[in-house]
Amino acid sequence: MNILPNFINGVWQPASADQSQPVVNPATGETLALVPFSGPADVAAAAQAAARALPAWRRTPAQDRIQFLFRLKTLLEGHLDEIARTITMECGKTLDEARGEMRRAIENVEVACGIPMLSKGEIAEDIAPGVDEILLRQPVGVCATIAPFNFPGMIPFWYLPYALACGNTYILKPSEKVPLTMQQIFSLLEEINLPAGVVNLVNGGREAVDAILDHPAIRAITFVGSSAVARYIYQRAAENGKRVQAQGGAKNPVVILPDADMEMAVRITADSAFGCAGQRCLATSLALTVGEARQTFTEGICDAAASRRVGYGLEEGVQMGAVINPASKSRIESLIARGAAEGAGLAVDGRNTVIPGYEKGTFVRPTVLLDLPPESEIARTEIFGPVLGVMHVDSLDEAIALLNRSPYGNQASLFTASGAAARKFRYEAEAGNIGINIGVAAPMAFFPFSGWKDSFFGDLHGQGIDAVEFFTQKKVVVERWPKEWSRKF
Ligand code: NAD
Repeated sequence: MNILPNFINGVWQPASADQSQPVVNPATGETLALVPFSGPADVAAAAQAAARALPAWRRTPAQDRIQFLFRLKTLLEGHLDEIARTITMECGKTLDEARGEMRRAIENVEVACGIPMLSKGEIAEDIAPGVDEILLRQPVGVCATIAPFNFPGMIPFWYLPYALACGNTYILKPSEKVPLTMQQIFSLLEEINLPAGVVNLVNGGREAVDAILDHPAIRAITFVGSSAVARYIYQRAAENGKRVQAQGGAKNPVVILPDADMEMAVRITADSAFGCAGQRCLATSLALTVGEARQTFTEGICDAAASRRVGYGLEEGVQMGAVINPASKSRIESLIARGAAEGAGLAVDGRNTVIPGYEKGTFVRPTVLLDLPPESEIARTEIFGPVLGVMHVDSLDEAIALLNRSPYGNQASLFTASGAAARKFRYEAEAGNIGINIGVAAPMAFFPFSGWKDSFFGDLHGQGIDAVEFFTQKKVVVERWPKEWSRKF
């Protein structure tokens, strides 16, 4: 079986690595390809190519740079179904989820096409007589992204289009678990004829990451993945003097008030908790019912969990696919067991799932754990699987106090018909993305993908104006043109 190539300096080329690992379809167990573990030499080749391409790319007017993105958008639209199939095959989610992911990717290309307008500078005339002050935005240099497995198509697009449109050159290291989607997307990037070295793809794992963190030519790094690795990336990149943002893990709560539309709250919470098999950083994993919401919500969510159709994501009618690999399945199952041992009621148990025809698949059915003790480990740990813990509280104040104790702050949602409750929640909940009657509060590309506490290390986020700020550095120029000089003309 062929080992996947890297794309460096406009050429597909083998990694210098001796080691590789199989890329496995989590639903069928079939090996799809081998991914190489690129090392420092491959990263150095990409960094050098990107550094060589930088001066000419930077001088290319922004309105010309975005013409490449317009062409990329057209190609992504034309190949959307094909790319979505690859996402489903290597990542396990359903085809509809994969299509939705690619729509969000394309949306970021569209927003980045506004960079000529978004990256304009500022000027103040006569800050002193005859003295003007100008703010310019210039590219940062060579930028790199280290991506997670759960959105192989979308997450690189939180960065790639903005980095390029702002005049930077770029290196992507996809997750070694799901490298095929970016093989396909880089073939499209090849078709748009960007100058050699402007975009580069390096496959690999930790060794490639460390080489990116340490390479002196790489000036800015964006990372998305688990909090432990995010913290490490943030520290090591910062130690090396790089600009860095690192998005981490999550444990997202939803609060259900008694006045909520219960049918909607159940349906949307089920989609959030079990969609993408719970492998979304915005997946709801804790539901806090308030007062009389308890019984109706609990009954509804247990029915929704038990009736969700689980199977191979390419098949019609399947509502939830596999989790990424056997290690993930056994981790999720052992956390479910831990929850039960800590005193939670196992109302719907998704362990030991076998889907007929897909016996080698790594499936876990939706699971609901009731009455989690607030101090239990399961109430605090990110599970990253289709598992919803339910807790009961007496008031909105109690719910907010409880959710604010979490070390994470990626998302918090509220279901209610009360504007006053919604405002209180929006004001007091300590999370960077808030949903009001929304289960996955994923910001559109023209808003930043926020995240607080251990869900984010850094300052500027991905997407929107934050991305423009991250991928440019400001330069302030103070100029004096004495009045007397103008008399000479
Ligand atoms: P991960 O942290 O295991 O891997 C992410 C990337 O880091 C991969 O490219 C991997 O090769 C690299 N990596 C892994 N371990 C490393 C190490 N020890 N040293 C250096 N590099 C390392 O994450 P994952 O399992 O691919 O993705 C799931 C996680 O990502 C979840 O925690 C999820 O919440 C989080 N996530 C967060 C967001 C967000 O926006 N906050 C979005 C998507 C996923």
